[in-house]
Amino acid sequence: MQDVIRLLPESLANQIAAGEVVQRPASVVKELVENAIDAGSDSIVLKVKDAGKTLIQVIDNGCGMSETDVRMSFERHATSKIHTTSDLFNINTFGFRGEALASIAAVAQVIVKTRREEDELGTLVDIEGSEVKNQEPTQTPKGTSFSVKNLFFNVPARRKFLKSNPVELKHIIDEFQRVALANPEISMTMISDDKELYNLRGGNIAKRIVSMFGKSYQEQLYPCHEDLDVIKVKGYIGKPENAKKTRGEQFFFVNGRYIKHSALNHAIMTAYDSILPENTFPFYLLFIECDPADVDVNVHPTKTEVKFADERTTYAIVSAAVKQALASYGITPSIDFGI
Ligand code: ADP
Ligand code: MG
Repeated sequence: MQDVIRLLPESLANQIAAGEVVQRPASVVKELVENAIDAGSDSIVLKVKDAGKTLIQVIDNGCGMSETDVRMSFERHATSKIHTTSDLFNINTFGFRGEALASIAAVAQVIVKTRREEDELGTLVDIEGSEVKNQEPTQTPKGTSFSVKNLFFNVPARRKFLKSNPVELKHIIDEFQRVALANPEISMTMISDDKELYNLRGGNIAKRIVSMFGKSYQEQLYPCHEDLDVIKVKGYIGKPENAKKTRGEQFFFVNGRYIKHSALNHAIMTAYDSILPENTFPFYLLFIECDPADVDVNVHPTKTEVKFADERTTYAIVSAAVKQALASYGITPSIDFGI
């Protein structure tokens, strides 16, 4: 019998890896916008066509890439963001896996234009299904523009499973909102099928909440903060009477990264306790800052789940912060009126 094991061709390996990272157009938006932020941009424009199915373009004014780096950026496990194992436990960028661009380029047609400030000419790379079609010097503004066309053009089975445009666009808007809320100092624009959905100027978090959700939010929020050595919590929580029937406007950010955390959500809901109208969900947007070494962001490939070194203490601190914010504005859960 002959031996049968072979290494997969790189393009196929990339396609398989892409299954983890790129589930839908919104995943591409998340990766590209996070890269733009990691690149130190203060202005980011997102353009999508057909809910990202035909085009997702992210234009930034960040550091740009050299001719060699831009080619390298599409290799798997190629990253400028971590170098050693110890870096892995001290992550202060969004990216670190070096997988996103390789994955995206494996399942789409990508054109990138990029230029560093010090370079007179930038570089254009045209890559399709992991194959570089063209690379040439180009005139382009400082920063980087990624155009991702025809996602899953070469994986028809996955393209077929994309949902309707309104559903896919909603996922994109969710990603855009999360990143925009986490980075209020960055100007962020979103254009969908030539219609401008958001044009957010850089400012503080309160301004960003209002420009994203509407002026009425000025009267609907309480500040919430807790400043301990191990952990800091700051942000806003909504007045109970403005709680919504759906839980769409609830945001946790840990060290600037949007996360889902059911235990922390529970901490907040319990803090509101009986003061919430039945079956309603309050607005909250809380930034939790802690030592990156105390939180493991490496749990899940799409990185929305994290694990705290001390989950119980984190729960207690968030719960106390919310209770205190509610109490200091005169709202105390009725259970506390007991004696
Ligand atoms: P990661 O973000 O995990 O490092 P990516 O595949 O997303 O992996 O990107 C690979 C590398 O390409 C990054 O580490 C970075 O050096 C470079 N890069 C990607 N996007 C940009 C950008 N918008 N501006 C500058 N450099 C970028
Ligand atoms: Mg990245």
